[in-house]
Amino acid sequence: MLDIQKIRADFPILSEKVNGKPLIYFDNGATSQKPQVVIDAEAKYYQEINANIHRGVHTLSQLATDAYEISRVKLQHHINAKFSHEVLFTSGTTHGINLVANGFASILKPGDEVLVSSLEHHSNIVPWQMLCEKTGAVLKVIPINEEGELIISEYESLLSDKTKIVTVNHISNALGVINPVKEMIAKAHAVGAAVLIDGAQAVPHLKPDVQDLDCDFYAFSGHKMCGPTGTGILFGKEEWLNKLPPYQGGGEMIKEVTFEKTTYADLPHKFEAGTPNIAGGIVLGTAVDYLNNIGFGNIQLQENKLLEHATKRLLEIEGLRIYGNGKNKASVVSFNIDGIHPYDIGSIIDKLGIAVRTGHHCAQPIMNFFCIPGTIRASFSFYNTKEEIDVMVEAIKKAKTMLS
Ligand code: PLP
Repeated sequence: MLDIQKIRADFPILSEKVNGKPLIYFDNGATSQKPQVVIDAEAKYYQEINANIHRGVHTLSQLATDAYEISRVKLQHHINAKFSHEVLFTSGTTHGINLVANGFASILKPGDEVLVSSLEHHSNIVPWQMLCEKTGAVLKVIPINEEGELIISEYESLLSDKTKIVTVNHISNALGVINPVKEMIAKAHAVGAAVLIDGAQAVPHLKPDVQDLDCDFYAFSGHKMCGPTGTGILFGKEEWLNKLPPYQGGGEMIKEVTFEKTTYADLPHKFEAGTPNIAGGIVLGTAVDYLNNIGFGNIQLQENKLLEHATKRLLEIEGLRIYGNGKNKASVVSFNIDGIHPYDIGSIIDKLGIAVRTGHHCAQPIMNFFCIPGTIRASFSFYNTKEEIDVMVEAIKKAKTMLS
């Protein structure tokens, strides 16, 4: 059992007031809050070892390089990648997906197919549309059912030897649905397609095992898992990263440069041009340590309790509909109340110190499927409590009375 009050004390922002009320932060899907150890580690880097990495013989540069590379190995172990050079530091999920989509421009031919799902964040749609425009490949879409679940039989019928890459999120940001990615990866591999998993919403809730999943790429952001903004990881299987061309050219990603020909550095540096977010990369390792110390088993137990409680309490409200009601769900509740715009509820409860996300959640195709402009999304983290949910439910009831 987690001592939630003790955990909450790790997060200074959770004692803040917003609009004169104690903050209730239910926008964890957008970004998580940061524990003091993470905040301290960022300051410590700048106070004690700030220097550029991989390029100095001086002591500070070596200390910074070591800390950065130790963090890479930590992330490698966290996701169970076979090699540390399969773990690329990025600025976030968006960067990781664009890196892969850009690389596939050298692989795809007109008529090849890219398969995305209807549940994707715009970050996992637009780069593939751009790729298809560039190459003449065709974008195909895996549909969902009324529960917001991917229709696997339709997925199977979309797969063919024309499919070159399948890209799907592990957990949907808009609905919280957990997708059967392991099964989907095996099916894609059976037709020779590569698979990218967008793990942005999964990593706060679970520890992905990229070897067990057998995915070719797995992208995620540090800021959703208690780490700093502007950090992220792209895992890529060695064979794929060797096959793809570099995403950006610049310092650090080369072996030798002449005006006639440049040769590229070995992995992972081939994909890490320029000075990276050094502090961020190091501190992402601190965040991962923090989460592992709590334990993902404990995190899931707490979050499942919150999900169950929130679902039950919210459904007490007449006219409230929850979107995404499948069996496999993360601690996200996306809902609307009959006849009320989500933005109006969000604005009223914000005045009471409650932060939820309203709108299309960068997933407009899902909103189009349900014929709605958006939803109210409450996304819970292990540091949230049932009491906070009760306060939100009462606030929503009040807002509903005001708006009806
Ligand atoms: N994919 C999913 C499922 C997301 O939820 C998000 C962010 O909300 C992203 C991708 C993009 O992440 P970032 O903005 O950190 O690059």
